[in-house]
Amino acid sequence: MDLKGKVALITGSGRGIGKAIARKLAQQGADVVINDVDLEVASKTAKEMESYGVKALAVKAFVNQPEEVKAMFETIIKEFGTLDILVNNAGITKDGLLTKLTDEQFDQVIDVNLKGTFLCAREAAKIMGPKKSGRIINISSMAGQVGNIGQTNYAASKAGVIGMTKTLAKELAKDNINVNAIAPGFIMTEMTEKLPEKVVAYAMKMIPLARGGSVDEVANVVYFLSSDLSSYVTGQIIGVNGGLVI
Ligand code: NAD
Repeated sequence: MDLKGKVALITGSGRGIGKAIARKLAQQGADVVINDVDLEVASKTAKEMESYGVKALAVKAFVNQPEEVKAMFETIIKEFGTLDILVNNAGITKDGLLTKLTDEQFDQVIDVNLKGTFLCAREAAKIMGPKKSGRIINISSMAGQVGNIGQTNYAASKAGVIGMTKTLAKELAKDNINVNAIAPGFIMTEMTEKLPEKVVAYAMKMIPLARGGSVDEVANVVYFLSSDLSSYVTGQIIGVNGGLVI
């Protein structure tokens, strides 16, 4: 329970990896803010988190909309008084081979995955900076490290998150804010359920541990990066991929 008294915002945490992260941090005693575009799903998740004896609040906001992000952080300050941990998890895919990829598909993915991470990190730093403590954990992707066919937009957004993580780690170190990223490989969620069977079978063949990862296996690393166990770790990109990127 070493996160007792800490306040964590996990973006896009109504379901999937974000929800597992929220659960892990709540189990460790942190109060959690469940952000999503779907308030009904977020509220249900927040209710579930309260069963761990922590305070949980659902906030609807599109992380790519500056005004909504500002309003969300104002709500957090009003309700909790501070923020200790930001997990930039909200993300989308709009896949397509290059010649078929539309301007709209490109812009939407960059907007949510990359600009959303920037907007939330900027607001979080305004709170964490003056108190000289904080953790920012960005969820990138293996696609941002090694690329992926059909994901020009997604891979570029996630590679951008890696560059942003390294820059923020350097820039915010003076304020004792550690900034790291996790690059998950093939994690079983609704996002991966949409993939064609052929792609899934190929992925399994390529993974040294020969299986997809669970959302909890990502959440465990977020917990490590949120806690004092990782006090000397900043600017790092941690792969959670069963050995797929070695
Ligand atoms: P998911 O689609 O199951 O969940 C994403 C959540 O984000 C949803 O609840 C969705 O409503 C929310 N969301 C979407 N747009 C948003 C916005 N503009 N503002 C706020 N919330 C928004 O996806 P997931 O598989 O749980 O993925 C979570 C993160 O992990 C993403 O950043 C994704 O790119 C990354 N990731 C996933 C995998 C995987 O294998 N599942 C692999 C690598 C990286």
